[in-house]
Amino acid sequence: MTILIVDDAPDNIRMLANILIQDHHVIFATSGQQAMESAVANRPDLILLDVMMPEIDGFFVCSWLRENEKTCDIPVIMITAMNDSSAETRGFAAGAVDFLTKPVNPPVVRARVTAHLVLKKQRDELVRLNEQLQEEIMECTRLEEKLREQAEFDELTGLPNRKLFNDRLHQAILMGERKQRNFALMFVDLDRFKWVNDTLGHDAGDTLLIEVARRIKGVVRKSDTVARLGGDEFTVILLDILHESMAELVARKILEELCTPFLLKGEEVVISGSVGVSLFPADGSNAQELVKNADSAMYQAKHSGRNTFRFFSDEIDSKAHQRMKLEGEMRLAIQKEEFFLDYQPKIRLSTGRMTGVEALVRWNHPKEGVLSPNQFIPLAEGSGLILLMGAWVLRTACRDAMCWANEGFADLKLSVNLSALQFREGEKLLQMVEETLQETGFPAGNLELEITESMMIGNMEQVSITLQKLRGMGVNISMDDFGTGYSSLALLKDLPIQVIKIDRSFVRDLEKDDKSADFTSAIISMAKQLGLKVVVEGVETAAQLQILREQGGDEIQGFFFSPPLGRGAFLDLLQGQLPMGGGASL
Ligand code: C2E
Ligand code: MG
Ligand code: MG
Repeated sequence: MTILIVDDAPDNIRMLANILIQDHHVIFATSGQQAMESAVANRPDLILLDVMMPEIDGFFVCSWLRENEKTCDIPVIMITAMNDSSAETRGFAAGAVDFLTKPVNPPVVRARVTAHLVLKKQRDELVRLNEQLQEEIMECTRLEEKLREQAEFDELTGLPNRKLFNDRLHQAILMGERKQRNFALMFVDLDRFKWVNDTLGHDAGDTLLIEVARRIKGVVRKSDTVARLGGDEFTVILLDILHESMAELVARKILEELCTPFLLKGEEVVISGSVGVSLFPADGSNAQELVKNADSAMYQAKHSGRNTFRFFSDEIDSKAHQRMKLEGEMRLAIQKEEFFLDYQPKIRLSTGRMTGVEALVRWNHPKEGVLSPNQFIPLAEGSGLILLMGAWVLRTACRDAMCWANEGFADLKLSVNLSALQFREGEKLLQMVEETLQETGFPAGNLELEITESMMIGNMEQVSITLQKLRGMGVNISMDDFGTGYSSLALLKDLPIQVIKIDRSFVRDLEKDDKSADFTSAIISMAKQLGLKVVVEGVETAAQLQILREQGGDEIQGFFFSPPLGRGAFLDLLQGQLPMGGGASL
């Protein structure tokens, strides 16, 4: 034990040192300043401190030691002159633990010093034990957390395990019941997991499972649950399913991910998966039923040749597979040249002459016959095929229009519909339009691209930029199906749009229903004020035509003048060889 003796009189130091040197390691200081420095540097176990010193006295040194973090625990015994009771009071206040009076009595010094060293030792031990206890408590909490994690999460993949999956499933059912929401439960099983384990070893199997977990998670939303029940058995809970086609889309994406080769031990390995889907509440109102049915759907998927999905319900399953089949056929339809365009004229009311034409795509399906765009465009959007198809439509329409221009109809305006997905491609769309115009030589000023209000949803800024750039190329923009979306006037004011097309649902009831007539009349006069051209779609009768003429519409498009026609028939019409239907009375 180290004892620091502080006294300005060397004799006093010597005397105290003599008393203590036998049992302890003694160091000393001869001023207050030295005492503080030595205490910090040597950290003695006890300090004997003279009160009366020049410059810095013992009271100051004691207070200072108490306040210093490094020295605050060192017990200080003060040495005062006999009968100075006020010194004791000040000394205790400064933080001294005890007093000795001069001249000192050796046995008393030894006894007091020993007592305080023992006390200090015990206190230090207490502090150490306390720290140790706290550390142990923390370790316990850490262990508990880890145990809880192990109880709820799969150690290998970090995904929720069976227990947590069951909790989440019950929660989804409760929420579904309370808020009337549908959700889907999927069972995903790898088709070649056993093979990987047997031939490449368990390490490779583990790597595969980790990668599979990552890929499946990448396909679903954050709020959905991907769990591993064990082995190669994964489950997915897809919350808030609006339509079964959403589950179908996710199932297909998962299958696609599982078909993409995995890199295992430096080798590219192709496995695939089988997915079974049950829907809440249609396929079960409780967890047990939903699990059983998703599992049985998964087995059916396996039995029907793997690398596929099955819905539990036969009806939904056959609809989903029909869609999938059609989508697969659509991929080939472009190469097989099964798409073709019909053309529907637009007539200027003031002159009765054809001013423009809208290109409308059709699919001549080998078995189903001619399909209308409403039957395949949504599918083409879901698969991204619309981008290829849209480019084909624009190119073909521009080529045809160039032919008509060469026949002497160079003023004819050509309208082509854009889909939301095409439009969202921004830069790619601009590039595609530019290339097509260049390649076909069709003048940008004669091209009109039709967009719908629903395409404006979301990123207005991006939409506006894309439209401005199209405008910059000289292309005209037309707002199709106006009145069926949110018919926002603000949109028309802020965006570079030149034409609005009033949807045919308003024309249909024009004669019977004053509201429809009010609507068309209001839109036409508002469009006039904004300097927009108004095209009215779906005009079928002379009476409708008359009303629209009175209301001041600019152009009409509809069966009254002509239905959409094939390329040849349209050219005939253009050249005036066909009788112009109701056009005669225009
Ligand atoms: P839309 O752009 O509003 O096209 C007008 C639709 O109304 C066409 O239907 C046309 O045949 C139909 N129609 C025209 N006049 C009349 C009429 O007097 N009475 C009735 N009842 N109907 C009439 P279609 O050809 O079935 O096209 C449906 C929709 O598919 C189009 O609506 C358009 O949004 C979309 N569409 C067509 N071709 C393409 C395309 O190449 N790309 C994209 N993205 N969409 C297309
Ligand atoms: Mg259109
Ligand atoms: Mg329309």
